[in-house]
Order: sequence, then structure tokens, then C-alpha cells
Amino acid sequence: MDDYAVVLNAGSSSLKFSVYRRPAADRWRLEARGQIEGIGVAPKFSVKNGAGEKLAGDTLDKAAVRDARSALNAIADWLRAQYGGARVLGVGHRVVHGGARFDGPIVVTPQVLAELRKLIPLAPLHQPYNLAAIEAVSERLPGVPQVACFDTSFHRGQPAVAELVPLPRDVRETGVQRYGFHGLSYEYIASVLPDAAPEIAGGRVIVAHLGSGASMCAMKNRKSVDSTLGFTALDGLCMGTRPGAVDPGVILYLFQNLQLSAKDVETILYKKSGLLGISGISNDMRDLLGNSDPAARLAVDYFVYRAAKEIGALTAVLGGLDGLVFTAGIGENSAEIRSRICDASAWLGIEIDQTANGANSPRFSRPGSRVSAWVIPTNEELVIARHTGVLLGLVEART
Ligand code: ADP
Repeated sequence: MDDYAVVLNAGSSSLKFSVYRRPAADRWRLEARGQIEGIGVAPKFSVKNGAGEKLAGDTLDKAAVRDARSALNAIADWLRAQYGGARVLGVGHRVVHGGARFDGPIVVTPQVLAELRKLIPLAPLHQPYNLAAIEAVSERLPGVPQVACFDTSFHRGQPAVAELVPLPRDVRETGVQRYGFHGLSYEYIASVLPDAAPEIAGGRVIVAHLGSGASMCAMKNRKSVDSTLGFTALDGLCMGTRPGAVDPGVILYLFQNLQLSAKDVETILYKKSGLLGISGISNDMRDLLGNSDPAARLAVDYFVYRAAKEIGALTAVLGGLDGLVFTAGIGENSAEIRSRICDASAWLGIEIDQTANGANSPRFSRPGSRVSAWVIPTNEELVIARHTGVLLGLVEART
């Protein structure tokens, strides 16, 4: 019987999964990678094999796939039909917030789960769904070990000034500090930089993870020295439905003058702002690009403006810049957004080759460009799979 390991990345409206197989005594290999998108609205299931060929693609029943748990059931049914009798040795999960305590991946126990639940208010858009997936797996596969891998861990070890939230000590002692997010994505990029972009790997690099959530990480020699997301995943860049940095006085105004409740403010900050809030049209960059509506154009202009502004700030943190790497949904797929952000950062010495950019070439800066520009597809699931394998003793740790 073959052994399997499963990786789950559970979001509010999507559940991404990867299946790794180990034919007897052989190395682990990617067997399938897929997702259910549009959970509760218009669920769609798609899955490809390890070679990227389509295995299945279906529209699912909206009533049957209404939440993370039912999405997991749908995936489990497909897995059983596909790999009946398989032995699952472990399940790895993306968990957005590890707080101050979890600075690396960990095997989930009831105590760990209880600690992670306390962090739900710090990541209401992600943490509940991540934890629901862990709970659903322990119900379906009791006894199968699970590993939680955190988006915050990669950023631990930043200088004290980068982690500081300059509030009184008693407030900070409750855990108020800058944690940073998208760490699994940054960890993947850091791991492939020596092969993918050897000339900048040991230098000063900004990685721009631009997806529906967006952030940037300043890396020196592949270690995080600062990032644009902080205590929660609300800071920094403009995102699909989150505003990025906002004067905290505005939040006070929402409470004091508009008399909004904490729940209302949370909904505004996590679900109604950013590209959606500015445009009033969509949180999806694809809907906004090419839309001539002035509000859509303003949303895209602000997204680019804010990105260029953060690149300037992180370049100051790094004391100069050698390379700029784009990744995630927008970063990997939108030549237009890459081009606009690079043009707005031309003062740093970034000169791009429009043909290479349009072709999504890994390196799309001109040969003589002082700062090089790159597109590197991220793979958070692979990072989770590696950690899960090592922690559960399924593979040897790489030295
Ligand atoms: P997440 O994993 O955070 O949901 P992704 O990294 O998958 O996000 O990115 C999703 C976003 O990527 C979409 O909301 C969409 O705005 C953007 N995107 C995907 N493809 C394109 C494209 N071709 N052009 C512009 N934006 C795109």
C-alpha cells in the first residue's frame, strides 16, 4: 500500500490541497494539486496531477459545499475515489497566525489548538478557517498526525525596531508587536532564490507577494528584516478587501463619531476596503484592469502608488536594493501591474524589458539594470509539505 501526505490551505472561500505520494521506500512526489474555489457562492473543484495535467474540473452543488467543512468532505470523497485504500501518514496545514509563541511549524495537539484559537481575533479572515480544517481532519482521520505551519514564523528574528509597535509597555506585553505574514510564500521564494536568481540571492531583495492579500518582505541574504504586514494582516499595501496602512485616528473616528460597533469596524477593515472599497466594483484586479470607470482606475492607481511607496521605505531599511521579486496571483500574472510598479520605482535604477515582462520571463529587467526584476511563482504548499515531512519523520531534514 502506498503512503500519502496531504497539505491543506483553507481560506474563507477556497480550500487548496496537495497530495504527495511515496511509493514503497521511494521519495515523496507530488501526486495532485487542486482547490475548491467559491465555497458557499459558486463552488468549483479543479485538480491537476503532478505534471500539471487536468485530472478533474467540476462545478459543485452550492448547498452541498457551503463551508470549509463540507469542502473538505468533497475533497476527501474525491481522494477516496481516486486513491482508495491509501494510507495517510500526515496532514500539513497553513495557519496564518502563530503569535509570539509559535516561531516554527509544530505538531498539533489539543493544547496547541487552544492556543491558536486565542489568535482568531488577530486574523479573523483566515485563522477560523485554518483551524476548522484541522478540526475536520481530526474528526475524519483520528490518529493521523497534523502539522501547523505559520505565516508569521519566517519573520521571527527581525531587528527589534522592525517588530516594535510603539505603544506603552503594558499594552505591548499582551503580545502587541509586528508579526508579519505571507511567511510560507517568502520562505519558498528564499529557498529557490539561489537557483532562480543567483546574482541577488545573497543581497538586498524585496519580495512583493501580490495576491488577494498583499505584502512585501525586505530580505537580506534570504532572511526577513522587515515586512509591510504587522500585528494583523491589515497593514501596508492596499489589498483586495483590506485597506493597508490607515491612520489609526480614522479607526477612532469610526467608533467615536460614526458610532460603529467593533464588529462593523472589523467588517469594514477586512471585507469592504482596499480595491473593493475604493472601486465599489470588485476586489479582483482582473475586473479592474481595463475598466474605464474612474473609480476602478483610482483603485488600481492607489494599489500601484502604495506598492511604490513601500518599496521606497523597504529600500531605506535595506540600505539599497539589488533585486525586486514579484509573486502570487497579481505578481505572477499581471504584466501591467508589474510594469507600473517598476516604472514608479525607476528612480531606484529599475529598468525593465517590456517584451520579457509581457512573456512572464523569470527575469524581466534589462541586462544593464542596476536593480534586477523577477517573477517567481510561489508554492506555499510545498513549504508546508517539507515541514510536515520533516516534523513527522517522513523525510530526512535537509542540512
Ligand atoms: P490568495 O491565495 O490570497 O487568494 P492569489 O495569490 O491566488 O490570492 O491571488 C488572487 C488574485 O490574483 C485575484 O484576486 C486576482 O485579483 C489576481 N489575479 C489573478 N490572475 C490575474 C491576472 N491575470 N491579472 C491580474 N490579476 C490577477
